[in-house]
Amino acid sequence: MRLLVLDYFLKQSTALSLSDLESGFDYSNRATLFRTLKTFEKKGLLHSINDGHITVYALCMDNCSEEQHADSHMHFCCKNCKKIYCMRSVKTPNINIPSGFNAEKLDIIIHGLCNGCTENLN
Ligand SMILES: [Zn+2]
Ligand SMILES: [Zn+2]
Ligand SMILES: [Zn+2]
Repeated sequence: MRLLVLDYFLKQSTALSLSDLESGFDYSNRATLFRTLKTFEKKGLLHSINDGHITVYALCMDNCSEEQHADSHMHFCCKNCKKIYCMRSVKTPNINIPSGFNAEKLDIIIHGLCNGCTENLN
């Protein structure tokens, strides 16, 4: 089951939500899939992105480990197809936050039209 899930992610160019994953598997069990996603996230194989409405998951490629995620890229959310893309080449900037605050994760989501949708609209 776990290998199937990883394999499925490898074939996708966009991040997947639990529902996306569910529809990709005929004999899926939502609870099992969710547990699998959480395990992978913990192990540094997947990272999660929350766009304010749903949480989606994408493969890690930035030498993430079990202890720490090193995904420091931005994400792109297409307003037309609602897909979320990893912008692996676009690094998040270093930010300075007030002392006393302890930042763990910086989620930057760029909103707009993806290349596929831009082409379709022209
Ligand atoms: Zn990661
Ligand atoms: Zn799109
Ligand atoms: Zn990503």
